[in-house]
Amino acid sequence: MNNSTIKHIFFDLDNTLWDFEKNSREALLHLFNEHHIKTHCKTEFEDFIEIYETVNHELWNLYNLHQITKGELRYQRFYKSFLHFNYNNLQLAHVWADQYIKISPYKTHLIDGAMDVLLYLKDKYQLHIITNGFKEVQYTKLNYSKLAPFFEHVIISEEYGYNKPDIKIFDIAKVLTSSKINECVMIGDNYDTDILGALNANWKAIYLSNQHKTNEDKNYFQIDKLIKLRDYF
Ligand SMILES: [Mg+2]
Repeated sequence: MNNSTIKHIFFDLDNTLWDFEKNSREALLHLFNEHHIKTHCKTEFEDFIEIYETVNHELWNLYNLHQITKGELRYQRFYKSFLHFNYNNLQLAHVWADQYIKISPYKTHLIDGAMDVLLYLKDKYQLHIITNGFKEVQYTKLNYSKLAPFFEHVIISEEYGYNKPDIKIFDIAKVLTSSKINECVMIGDNYDTDILGALNANWKAIYLSNQHKTNEDKNYFQIDKLIKLRDYF
């Protein structure tokens, strides 16, 4: 990659640096046991979590497209998961919505190589976050997992009213960091939001994923491990 002009590296947070999946599973296992879901739903945790992750992913897509609100996303992911196992309990879904937000952001598992790669990059580049996550929890995640000191700007899209992949949040990021288009690269695990959003804004983009995705855009690159960023910068 021709990175000679790059000065600002923008990271997505969830599942790019902060191991959302692992942290979320720990929090959900706690709730699963505390509320005797094995009995109510007649299922093991592994089967429950598989359904939950599918439901949650679908609802996040709708949220990113502004088709459901944050409030709906927060409880519906649990309500719909319960319903899948014929357990109709709207009240408990609301309890989980509150409890999950209280537990999961304090978990500290990071994606493999996150600390090493940030230590490697921090003196050479200005590092920032652009996240679509909820503002109530993103700062807690950054602080408790000790990621916060690496970043000059933490841009929570919700606070500006535009979620990735909306080009406007990339423009806002550019203004906030006083950077130019050719100085910016976005790194993220979500192709539709992080990568297509950045490319549409004419930024460079590095897609973190095991699943190969072809894109002819000269500004597009893919890595399967975060630590491989060291080969680019
Ligand atoms: Mg992500």
